[in-house]
Amino acid sequence: MDKKQLKIAMLSIHSNPIGELGTNDTGGMSVYIRELARELGRRGHWIDIYTRLRNGRHQPVIDLFENVRLVHIGIPNNGNLSRLALYPYLPDFFKSMEDFRFHEGIEYDLIHSHYWLSGRLGSWAQEHWDRPHMVMFHTLGEVKNRTAVGRPEPELRIAAEKELAKTCHRILAPTEQEKDSLVRYYGVCGEKIGVVPCGVNLDLFQPQEKLATRKQLGFDQDDIILLYVGRFEPLKGIDRLLEAIPHLKNHQRIRLVLVGGDGDEAPESQFLQQKVIDLGIEDKVLFAGRIEQKYLPPYYNSADVLVISSHYESFGLVGLEALACGRPVVSTPVGAMKHLIQQSQAGHVVNDTLPRSLAKGIQSIITNSAPQLADEIRESVLAYSWSNVAAAMLREYETTIRHQSFANDQIVSAQASCG
Ligand code: UDP
Repeated sequence: MDKKQLKIAMLSIHSNPIGELGTNDTGGMSVYIRELARELGRRGHWIDIYTRLRNGRHQPVIDLFENVRLVHIGIPNNGNLSRLALYPYLPDFFKSMEDFRFHEGIEYDLIHSHYWLSGRLGSWAQEHWDRPHMVMFHTLGEVKNRTAVGRPEPELRIAAEKELAKTCHRILAPTEQEKDSLVRYYGVCGEKIGVVPCGVNLDLFQPQEKLATRKQLGFDQDDIILLYVGRFEPLKGIDRLLEAIPHLKNHQRIRLVLVGGDGDEAPESQFLQQKVIDLGIEDKVLFAGRIEQKYLPPYYNSADVLVISSHYESFGLVGLEALACGRPVVSTPVGAMKHLIQQSQAGHVVNDTLPRSLAKGIQSIITNSAPQLADEIRESVLAYSWSNVAAAMLREYETTIRHQSFANDQIVSAQASCG
């Protein structure tokens, strides 16, 4: 057990850490919160994760892991509201959170909020509880808008992120690239930002025999399998990946397996299905639907390559998961991919999301006559265990708590010194 037991309030209002991964509101952030909390709890710290109540589907309080509770707050009829539509209800969430805290008589040592909506809630907690507040944005509205893909993020989000960046005690970014964006587009002083990478469950994601996993999943042994795993949304560039297929040489044997999405009827799935028809590649693309994370390892292991075609990622957990399984990754230069692929020497970073560029990257992997051994690839990401992430996070928590007495002065002077 670590020296002092900390009590942490983790805020994840819009996305439930036990929600259905791969659907619109539930992706890498949920994995991050769940895994980090589990590891902190295991080390003897006490974590309450606050999330929104979804139409009474869950018990108000769930004992998730050792020392970790999931606390559902808010009003039941907001369960299906979109992220942005939650904004006017934030005061209700705060009241509900306060009611729970009073009832339980808890004083937290630190607030750790995830995404700007929870950050807003966290800033009220920061003020009322007089406790240090750390924020992880997970994605940044300003950077999303610069990709000019999908619906633009509203000014409300950008303004809230800027305000939060100014007033919170510490910001955590998963990569140096994300840190640079915070400095460049949000005017944050670099010293206020800690960089802690994301992790991977190394027990779950392990190399397995390719042919055996193909047999298990009913995939052809002779096909060249490209894999996509993730939510279906425009920012992921799945349309570009589909457009890349006809550019591949020997594409008769290519199969693209798409894992994730909100079901056949969801608008983004329909758009992609139509795209497949328009490109005449129906026989090459399999929409596998969302797969529970515990069943994902055979998918990674059956693939010749995982492709990340995103316009923007803050980190890109699926890349790390594929590498932990010993599979190579072709990726656009997003999130941690450049660094991870360089480190593992297993894959290819393409310059942009153009279908030709993606095809060229994929081609270089599938025609590689001397592929790297799975164990060697995995070796390169062993440092990314959740245990190491939790250790780094605890250092951040402890330093931030220690500095709280003069944190407000620090914010003022830091802002002043950064202009
Ligand atoms: N995931 C899953 N089942 C699916 C699709 C995705 O469990 O059908 C998980 C995947 O294992 C990964 C996460 O969802 O841990 C996606 O995280 P990533 O950082 O790649 O993308 P994000 O959702 O943060 O944009």
